[in-house]
Order: sequence, then C-alpha cells, then structure tokens
Amino acid sequence: MTVDQPRKSLLVSGGRVMDPAGGVDAVLDVLVTDGKVAAVGEGIRADDAERIDASGKFVCPGLIDIHVHLREPGGEHKETIRTGTRAALAGGFTTVCCMPNTEPPLDRPEVIQDLQRRIANDAACRVYVIGAATIGNEGKLLTEFTALKRAGCVAVSDDAFPIQSGALMERALAQCAEADLPFIAHCELKDVPLEPAWRAEADSIERWCQAARSVFETTGLRPRLHIAHLSTEPGQDRLRQAKKVPGPRLTAETAPHYWVVTKEALEQLGADAKMNPPLREADDVEATKRALADGTIDVIATDHAPHAPEEKAAGVNAAPFGIVGLETALGLVMTGLVETEVLDITQALAKMTVRPAEVLGLAHGRLNVSEPADITIIDPQTRWRADPARFASKGRSTPFAGWELHGAPFATIVGGEVQMIEGRLCGRT
Ligand SMILES: [Zn+2]
Repeated sequence: MTVDQPRKSLLVSGGRVMDPAGGVDAVLDVLVTDGKVAAVGEGIRADDAERIDASGKFVCPGLIDIHVHLREPGGEHKETIRTGTRAALAGGFTTVCCMPNTEPPLDRPEVIQDLQRRIANDAACRVYVIGAATIGNEGKLLTEFTALKRAGCVAVSDDAFPIQSGALMERALAQCAEADLPFIAHCELKDVPLEPAWRAEADSIERWCQAARSVFETTGLRPRLHIAHLSTEPGQDRLRQAKKVPGPRLTAETAPHYWVVTKEALEQLGADAKMNPPLREADDVEATKRALADGTIDVIATDHAPHAPEEKAAGVNAAPFGIVGLETALGLVMTGLVETEVLDITQALAKMTVRPAEVLGLAHGRLNVSEPADITIIDPQTRWRADPARFASKGRSTPFAGWELHGAPFATIVGGEVQMIEGRLCGRT
C-alpha cells in the first residue's frame, strides 16, 4: 500500500491579515496545506510547517492585475509569458489577465488554445485570457464571444483598438450579455475634436454607457461594461452619473500613472511617459483620486505595456505607446494613495484583490479556508528606489525610474507555493 506524502504545510505567522472580502483586519496566522488555505486564526500550531515570519507585515489575498500586455504571441522581443509573469510575482501579483492585441490577435479559439498551452508551460503566476472583441482587432466584425468563452476567455476587449461605432458597441454589449462576459472598453473616440483632450474619453464613455442602457431596455439583460484606464475628470463624471441608473453593470479601472504624474512628465521624460490614454492635467490627477475614493473607479490595474528598450529609445514621436507597471504598482499605491490618505489600506487592497476578481468573475481575491492559497505579503516599512535595470520584465520604460517608494511586496505565494520572497524569484520558472 502506498500513502501519498502530503505536501508540506506553510505557516505565515504573526502578520496583520487583511482580507477586504471577508472584512478581516487583525494580527493572525495563516496555515496553508496542500496549496489551500487550511486555517486563519490566532496561535495556530503547526510544528512541521515551513514558516514565514510576517510580523510587522500585511498578509492579504494575492494581488490581481486585470490589464496586462504579455505580448505573446508575436511580440516576444518586448515581453514573454515567462518574463511578464515573473514581473507580476516581483510586483506582488498572483494573477494577471492578458490583453488580446497580440500578433496574431486573440480573436479565435485556436489562437487562444495555443496561448493556453504556452501559459501552462511558461507562466509563473496565474494568467487569464481576454479575447479580442473584433476580428483582427479591426473594429468591424465581432468575434464569436461564446466560442471565445468556451476557449477560456474571461472577458473581451477592444483595448489598443478602440471601437468607434455606437451600433457595433451596442451589438457587442448585447452579445456579451448573452454570453455573460464582461466587455472591457478602451474608450477613445477619434471623430471628436482634438481639443479639449478629455473629449475622446468622456464622449466615448457617455456613448457606450448609453449603448449598455439601450441593451438593457430592449433585452432586459444587464451588460457588464468595464471602462479601461479611466483618466479624465469629465470621463469620471460621465461614468459617475451613468452608474446611478439601474440596469447595466458599469465598472472602471485606472492605473497608477494617472494619479501620480501629469502631462508635464511627457516633456521631461519623453517616451518613458508616452502611453495611451496620455498623461493628463493636474485637475484630472486630483479628480482620479476622488473617483478612486468615492468608488467611481472600482479597480486598480497597471496597463503593463512593455516594449523593447530600443523601440522606446527611438525618440518621443517614433516610440510606441506604453510603459511597464507591474513592478512599481504596489509602491505607487502605498506611497501615492495610502500614505497620502486618499484611500485607507483596506480600500486600496480591495481594488487590487476582491474587486477585480468580481469584475471578471474570477474565483480569487479573498482568503477563504479550503480555497487556493494565493497570498501577497507586503512590507509597509520598506523604502526602495525603482530601478528599471533590476526589473524582471523585459520592458524598462517607466516615468518612475529613480523614485523612492514606500511599501513593497515581501512575498508572493501562488497556490501555496512561495514564488517570490524578499525580492527573490524562487519558483520553477
Ligand atoms: Zn492596455
């Protein structure tokens, strides 16, 4: 008779356990057995367990980033599943969702199945796939949403290729509602005047929220419309109003650069501050903080969009849009939102754990007994300097190079396995 050797247990002891989903905020131990949370409580004894002393640290559900460009397939010189997910672990993320603007685009089941195989082989953290909303990302014909969902997609998106037609958006939202998939909208209209710059975003949000309402009124279905990288005060106002109307399920995310730096950074830093949507005015930065605080913005994502260093070195006009974000996000949240009391730590963590999980319907983002043990341990005292040369990502372009940040990921645990501790990546990949 053979007896399966149980996997070794892990005891995370003495940390301040913060689980926004469960309303937990107390100094407790967390016991992990067989990859799952076995117990959360005081004075847990587990003599055989491997132990992490978390005293003075925050122990929270693994962080989730629902807006990441892993660049595979087709952009492996910018990032790969392996390097992008290692960057995620380094940044304290246990789960990322990858965007479909790849080459070929993630617009049909065969491409997504191939990507799922690569993920199974190469990913260092959990990866969920977001499908392309239109064939070839061309903004003309919708993809087969039900087939994409069957291939594993958790949402569809027009990210990087914003849909321009209201009729197409309404059809997309109706089909999403039928398939029970969220639509992640890159709101940027091109048929509006260039000035004021916020119009491309704000008008798009107004129209797409109206399209969602119209789907609700005609079908009774409640479309899930998630606004990507919300960055302007008028855009936030439009969404705030739209959220008051019952029916459609409207949510939004923003990324750290939109509450930290203004468009002046583009003049100073050039391509390292070039992304889409662009950096905004000082008023928008303050408005973004208010929208985070009042819940208009539900989720903090990074829009991690790596490019090869030589591409970003091509000068501000020639360089592609996008900066890396996975390895600076937590420090920018702690320094720019929590330390400045825009959000308390529980609110901030909710926007990086349970809220993104809810928006995309992922079974993560909480510390429940007998569920997979995805845990991020945060050291709130650490002061560190963002150094792109040390990033695990292939991308190096960030406006935050050299910034001193307060608070850093101390350990990243995925399914009970310690994948990063004290800045050291220690998993199988
Ligand atoms: Zn993006």
